Amino acid sequence: MAIDQSAHDEIVSRAPQNLILIDGKGVSSTSGGVFEHINPSTGCVQASIPLCGADDVDRAVTAARKGLARWRQIAPSRRAELLSRLQALVDSDIENMALLSAIENAIPVTVTKNAYFPRAAAWMRYYAGFADKVEGAVTATWPAEQLEYTIPEPFGVIGCIITWNAPVISLAFKVFPALAAGCSVVIKPSEMTPFVAARFVELAHEAGIPDGVINLIPGGPEAGEALCRHPGVDKISFTGGLGTARRILMACAETIKPSLHELGGKSANIIFEDADLAFASYYSATFAMYGSGQACQSPSRLLVHDSIYDEFVPQVLNFVQSFSVGDPLDEDTFMGPVVNRAAVERIEQVIEGAKRDGSGALLTGGESYGGRFGRGHFVMPTVFGDVDPKSDLAQNEIFGPVLSVIRFKSDAEALQIANGTKWGLAGYVQTKSLSRAHRFAADLICGSVHINGSPNVHAGSPFGGVGLSGFGKEGGRWGLEEFIRQKNVGVIV
Ligand code: NAD
Repeated sequence: MAIDQSAHDEIVSRAPQNLILIDGKGVSSTSGGVFEHINPSTGCVQASIPLCGADDVDRAVTAARKGLARWRQIAPSRRAELLSRLQALVDSDIENMALLSAIENAIPVTVTKNAYFPRAAAWMRYYAGFADKVEGAVTATWPAEQLEYTIPEPFGVIGCIITWNAPVISLAFKVFPALAAGCSVVIKPSEMTPFVAARFVELAHEAGIPDGVINLIPGGPEAGEALCRHPGVDKISFTGGLGTARRILMACAETIKPSLHELGGKSANIIFEDADLAFASYYSATFAMYGSGQACQSPSRLLVHDSIYDEFVPQVLNFVQSFSVGDPLDEDTFMGPVVNRAAVERIEQVIEGAKRDGSGALLTGGESYGGRFGRGHFVMPTVFGDVDPKSDLAQNEIFGPVLSVIRFKSDAEALQIANGTKWGLAGYVQTKSLSRAHRFAADLICGSVHINGSPNVHAGSPFGGVGLSGFGKEGGRWGLEEFIRQKNVGVIV
């Protein structure tokens, strides 16, 4: 049955009114045009989103430069207090923000409330605590009359360009360490997710973060490129797709601006014959379909040892076929729609291509829901078995609910298949053998390895990929240091 837009409209009516926030004030501008926001669950146009153009970007960067000076005048311990207050406000607003998220990107409230927001809150808490612990180093004290030391300086104004699939996570991963390091930010959210970001900036204002320290400019590629080219921006921190990353690198080249890139993946999840199969089947199915497969770390290639393949794959299918698909506002929904019509068409093309060229056997799903959900953008959770590891299906990120199962016969073959793409975000290994676990942790070419379901993206751990998955780190000290310049000082006394 088609999903009723009226409950969604009620949430839209309570969404933040000011979507552009520069120097602490709501700004009304449509210099970058207007985006008709279509609710992914219903297909109805539900809001007109003002988009920023180059002039607004310039105003936001000017404000951020003033904000940088204001923020640096505040004692680090006070900055830590303000960030902690913001984190507490976000924590107490999770119910509301989860609803806003459900109407803008259609990630179900159960997923955001139980996973995305708690994870974001943990990162915010972690980095708030860093604001008064930024350290330099004494690098030489020899001979006795010579001293060399470093002064840790904030990098400056950071342009945060984020994608739509989990804006609160990107805000936690980028804005908090940047502010803890003493930087100011201009956030450019995706035009598809203006509301959660606007609520976050409202709460920052309420927390007492000074004007100009956090600025918000919703917009499309035009605003993003203007931010990258702007000489007043010192660094870009980007999360998004590969094509956009290439454009950003070119735009940043003009001013020799450094940038950090958190991109996609095609992560392998390797199930060995000695794994806890009950847990591994649940984990493999659930994690692959989380957020309808629209997650960068999605274990979208499931590599299964030949000796357990026929027993294990039906267990995965049982989970996939039992997922409740529906309205993301409904607490029982595990999977909502994908973000827009273009995503449905892109995913359908991949599925049709795989059916045509025989790169795998369709085991479940394989089409959109069509009439059952009216004009909503729903794609069935889809699994292909015995997938050719070299096929397009197994090589390219789909960013949708499509899982490719690949058979392997030896450890060496598993490693070769796992490392056989140009991506390198994450790797997952399910085994009871400690030596095998450590060997794969060392040999997998990717940014992070998770063994037997170890928790993902922990705030204190470095997160980020290699190869086409990008470069630079978020998380831990590494994520903080992305926003710090170490200035060296040498003194002869
Ligand atoms: P996208 O690259 O289209 O958009 C991301 C952001 O870039 C948006 O704000 C967009 O407006 C902006 N943008 C678009 N063109 C631009 C340009 N020319 N210059 C500057 N900014 C521009 O992102 P998408 O493809 O919709 O997002 C999905 C991708 O993001 C997937 O590949 C996914 O794996 C990846 N992702 C990665 C992570 C991670 O942390 N590694 C997290 C989430 C998503």
